[in-house]
Amino acid sequence: MFTRTPYECHTRLAVDGQWHARPGDDQWARLIEGYRTMALIRQFDKKAVNLQRTGKLGTYASCLGAEALTTAAGQTLQPDDYFVPYYRDQATQYLRGVRLEQILQYWGGDERGNDFPADAPAVRDLPNCVPIGTQLTQAAGVATKAKQRHEHAAVLVTCGDGATSRGDFHETLNVAGVWQLPLVVLVNNNQWAISVPRRLQTASRTIAQKAEAAGIEGFQVDGNDLPAMLDALDYALDRARHGKGAILIEAMSYRLSDHTTADDASRYRKASDLHAAWQREPVARLRQALVEAGHWDGDQEKAWLEHCQRQVDEAIDSYLATPPAPATDMLDYLYANLPPALLAQRAQLEQRTTGGHHA
Ligand SMILES: [Mg+2]
Repeated sequence: MFTRTPYECHTRLAVDGQWHARPGDDQWARLIEGYRTMALIRQFDKKAVNLQRTGKLGTYASCLGAEALTTAAGQTLQPDDYFVPYYRDQATQYLRGVRLEQILQYWGGDERGNDFPADAPAVRDLPNCVPIGTQLTQAAGVATKAKQRHEHAAVLVTCGDGATSRGDFHETLNVAGVWQLPLVVLVNNNQWAISVPRRLQTASRTIAQKAEAAGIEGFQVDGNDLPAMLDALDYALDRARHGKGAILIEAMSYRLSDHTTADDASRYRKASDLHAAWQREPVARLRQALVEAGHWDGDQEKAWLEHCQRQVDEAIDSYLATPPAPATDMLDYLYANLPPALLAQRAQLEQRTTGGHHA
């Protein structure tokens, strides 16, 4: 049964990988695919942190602990839907067709990382959003246009728990309710907004209940439980596509990493809390459930992790071998037409970096 309330967390898997509600025979292939993606993204994420530590990547926001929710988003979106990410959505972007080397390019300060492949669903998506919450109102705009055009499409936007205290969040839910927008707002409640814990973030009993004031449906789901996340997003995205209104999903998770590579969470987070959170982490939990059900084994695990390592290494090689982007890229994607003051700066920049010679 799919529990949908703002006060009770929908879950399918116990922490030890035991099933509360066992999948039907037709669901295993999807769960195995989801597990494969989660394992791949965990390896990718670890290597990305290492690249930053060795000076080969800029500041990076790890998705350690968020693998189930970001993978479920990618598995449930359909090609004609739109995805408006925040900055811990690596698996969703990958499943939408963004190449791993492009995700590295983005965090390496190269705009070409946002030039998503034209033949991939991601071409409809927005780039990562780092300012907190501004992507929410943009997603409401995309959803408004999709509705005006009578598209059979949903818009999925993600944000963290901290963003739910911002005006942008409440304005988005409000307009989504009034205009019945085809919008799903997925909150990764990872319990921390940089160093601010959830209990100091909001006095709301849950984040999901913030939907009630906007007159839309809101519910909690275990964000570390891939099958539960698939239930939640299948339901919400399907409703949105069919014009049945917006939904807020609060996915309960835990940020196992620092906020970004520019943070040191050991200064404000108890080691015992982190240890406890690792007992509920999503990757081992799903692996255990698949193994116990006879759908995954040690040999498959070993072969898949070797495959992941090769795939991630190839992406890193490709990223490191890419010649630097032109310095003028820092101005070229700000406006449709550059204002005169920036045009002059752009000309100077081009002069300095190419000596006036066009490639
Ligand atoms: Mg957070």
